[in-house]
Amino acid sequence: MAAGTKRDYYEVLGVQRNASPDEVKKAFRRLAREYHPDVNKEPGAEAKFKEINEAYEVLSDEQKRAMYDRFGHAGMNGGAGFDPFAAGDPFSTIFDAFFGGQAGGRNSRGPQRGADLRYNMSLTFEEAVFGCEKEIEFRRLEMCPACHGNGAEPGTDPVRCTRCGGTGELRQRAPLFNMVTVTTCDTCGGTGQVIPIPCRECRGEGRVRKPRKITVKVPAGVDSSSQIRISGEGESGFRGGPNGNLYVALDIQPHPHFVRDGNDIIYELRLNVAQAALGDEVEVPTVDGNERLRVPAGTQTGQTFRIAGKGVPYLRQKGRGDQVVMARVVVPGRLSDQQRRLFQELAQTFGPEQAGGERDDGLLGKIKDALGI
Ligand SMILES: [Zn+2]
Ligand SMILES: [Zn+2]
Repeated sequence: MAAGTKRDYYEVLGVQRNASPDEVKKAFRRLAREYHPDVNKEPGAEAKFKEINEAYEVLSDEQKRAMYDRFGHAGMNGGAGFDPFAAGDPFSTIFDAFFGGQAGGRNSRGPQRGADLRYNMSLTFEEAVFGCEKEIEFRRLEMCPACHGNGAEPGTDPVRCTRCGGTGELRQRAPLFNMVTVTTCDTCGGTGQVIPIPCRECRGEGRVRKPRKITVKVPAGVDSSSQIRISGEGESGFRGGPNGNLYVALDIQPHPHFVRDGNDIIYELRLNVAQAALGDEVEVPTVDGNERLRVPAGTQTGQTFRIAGKGVPYLRQKGRGDQVVMARVVVPGRLSDQQRRLFQELAQTFGPEQAGGERDDGLLGKIKDALGI
């Protein structure tokens, strides 16, 4: 790049020629954020970013700035070979210095978001069907009430970090490449402050573990795969960072009579051979109480009847599933003398034919259906 084609450094940073070092720094930070190649994907952003860095490299250094003011670009290394990016990948270090603290970088002790928490909540079958409100208690890190989260013993204050002068960053000059490397201050972790007397309550952490009680509203129709997210009820952030979230996982207890199939509820209705053969009107339990159900004559094991609207409410829309009543014909294991006589009489009427019914595809048909053949 020839010196003649270079833009004026003040113009590049958009500051006045008499701008204070602070103004220069602010302008640089704003522009660097805007044109950082990780953020700005527009063509030319990278070149612009380099130009901004070059301008700042000169204007942030008192001696260089004085040279530049007197001699212009010609005063800078003879105006040739200036390339602050000659070595390594400076993007990462510069990026870290700007965004690391705020984004909660690995080594940073600046503001960090609190951890998410998971709570396992046990629900009865009915609580999951109809929804409920439950109070839960758990322990989490909360902002220390003694120091209000800043980590300093009450009555004392955090003081400016002497290593970085309160800027939170360290600038290292590599004279060979005429380059400045900016890293997060390792003493204060980028906060620009150190705590001379740590708070006794939290040992300088700014957070203490405390029990927390909240009421969780469980919507009707949840199942074991549902998870309830309660934002901001996780652990408190570090040094003013935002709170994490609380995730409530659900463990739904089995019911002695009902089995869930999505939004339907399956109930097995046991019928004796007489009820199955002759038909009957029976009482069937549902989650809403008993319902009368007409079982037709000739009911077979596995035959199903639907009681509409007695299933599980849909989570995200109106309406409910059905209760599916599945018949199971129970052959008596033990007979009284009278019953034996009657069955023997019955047996005579069936004659030699085997099952006594015209439809004999019951079980076999169901097996075939299940296997898809
Ligand atoms: Zn404290
Ligand atoms: Zn520091």
